[in-house]
Amino acid sequence: MAVETTTYTSLGPAADERDEEKLRFIDEMTANADAVQKKVLAEILSRNAETEYLQRYNLGGATDRATFKAKIPMVTYEDLQPEIQRIANGDRSPILSAYPISEFLTSSGTSAGERKLMPTIKEELDRRQLLYSLLTPVMNLYVRGLDKGKALYFYFVKSETRTPGGLLARPVLTSYYKSEHFKSRPYDPYNVITSPTPAILCADSFQSMYVQMLCGLLHRLQVLRVGAVFASGLLRAIRFLQLHWGELARDIAAGSLSPKITDPSVRDSVADVLKPNTELAEFIRAECSTGEWAGIVTRMWPNTKYLDVIVTGAMAQYIPTLEYYSGGLPMACTMYASSECYFGLNLRPMCKPSEVSYTIMPNMAYFEFLPLDLAAGGACQGEELVDLARVEVGKEYELVITTYAGLYRYRVGDILRVTSFHNAAPQFRFVRRKNVLLSIESDKTDEAELQKAVERASELLEPWNATVVEYTSHASTKSIPGHYVVYWELLVKESTGEGRMPSGEVMGRCCLAMEEALNSVYRQSRVADGSIGALEIRVVRGGTFEELMDYAISRGASINQYKVPRCVNFPPILDLLDSRVVSTHFSPTLPTWSPHRAT
Ligand code: AMP
Repeated sequence: MAVETTTYTSLGPAADERDEEKLRFIDEMTANADAVQKKVLAEILSRNAETEYLQRYNLGGATDRATFKAKIPMVTYEDLQPEIQRIANGDRSPILSAYPISEFLTSSGTSAGERKLMPTIKEELDRRQLLYSLLTPVMNLYVRGLDKGKALYFYFVKSETRTPGGLLARPVLTSYYKSEHFKSRPYDPYNVITSPTPAILCADSFQSMYVQMLCGLLHRLQVLRVGAVFASGLLRAIRFLQLHWGELARDIAAGSLSPKITDPSVRDSVADVLKPNTELAEFIRAECSTGEWAGIVTRMWPNTKYLDVIVTGAMAQYIPTLEYYSGGLPMACTMYASSECYFGLNLRPMCKPSEVSYTIMPNMAYFEFLPLDLAAGGACQGEELVDLARVEVGKEYELVITTYAGLYRYRVGDILRVTSFHNAAPQFRFVRRKNVLLSIESDKTDEAELQKAVERASELLEPWNATVVEYTSHASTKSIPGHYVVYWELLVKESTGEGRMPSGEVMGRCCLAMEEALNSVYRQSRVADGSIGALEIRVVRGGTFEELMDYAISRGASINQYKVPRCVNFPPILDLLDSRVVSTHFSPTLPTWSPHRAT
């Protein structure tokens, strides 16, 4: 039996020596946040001094903050597009980074409708791995005994492509799951997952999910935590169970895998664990056939201590649904990361979702913060950026990063609020992502994209002499998968005898036209993952948007400044819109999507 040690760190007593080392590392990094940041910046600037990008700004070999801040501009993805395109086309010269770009990580943020391409270098995998290695020691401070069971995590890879110059382009988690860091990870009793690696690596999302769920069921009594990266992923898994429990139970009763699972390595991966088990099959049938899904997580996996899933930011909309399915289990949001860079972790992972703050680890990159009031003003060049250790509690900032892989003063687009400090390192609440109107899972649709989609679709109304006079939208997550709902008020010139109400078939085509006009992340979720449902247009009767304005004015909005909100979430307004609906329409088919980039 392991002897419990009580070695105190600023975070609490470490469970064992290995944890102690990691917790001490967090202590050291957070206590010396400013010094670590200074060192990180000097390292990034000195190793990349000869890159074309830094040469352009005449740093003259300087690696100090003052020179960096005076000479290097703050940039967005669009500013870097020429350099990124050259790297994608095969230019191997040191453009952004002195170290070879090993691949591109495709972000769920898009530019001109396509995923952004984030350059990365090999050693970034080690940095990400380091951040992952801190999560368990922190969790062990709050939940003991995780080494006595397993984790049921639903992990998926997405498709990958090659750029014209031959570099791989894929999401950061796909890159991680396919890396030796993940595939050949040493046995760790605290991180035994039920999903076989071949199932995680299977690109067919049905086969992958099926086998991950099957293994979760086979190990149901050993499962101590259930999770996915984001809340939407976990809900997709629950939905999968609702749809496929019959087949899963049949396989478990027979001890043989459904012929729908065709990938040989996936089939092999369950050969040893799938044995006829009629008792378990009967249990699954009894629980699932009632049609009662409240608390299904704890009924299926009764020893689950918490859900490991991100429910901050856009994912907060799923908290009530997850509470319903899990019977109110705690939800642990453990880390904050992106394709550009992994940022940090939650040092109190068992806190309530509304209280989650992430501590940015100062060793991951060089971090700066653009005060939000200045960001709103527009024309700032970066002189006003605040360093990590100097942000102020209560203030909101936009995150700006300088990475080892060659992004310099890059605006990530996340808005964070400082809640407190741990040692000398600030802790941040994730407030929102800039310019995101609609999001169901990793998709991020902004106002301009929605506007373009409405314009495209409304072209189909021309022969009917009808126009969209007003519109708004809502990300509906009442059913899983969630879907976009767009409310349209139409003007049909019926009185002049010229126009007619468009037919249901045309309205269906309008839904599809909107989907075709949305970005590739949206379409991939629709087509490859099935994680977003068909787009819906709800036609509201004439005058509805005027009523909306009246309502806003009655609540204090200024009549001169009133603008139609392009997305609504406030329940009374949704109720008002829904009570005026005259017809509803859905996309009749899937939009087009291919893993290959359009640009
Ligand atoms: P991607 O570029 O696709 O890798 O997505 C990264 C983005 O996801 C971040 O910039 C955030 O906007 C969002 N994100 C990542 N982790 C979290 C988190 N823990 N809470 C809220 N949003 C997050």
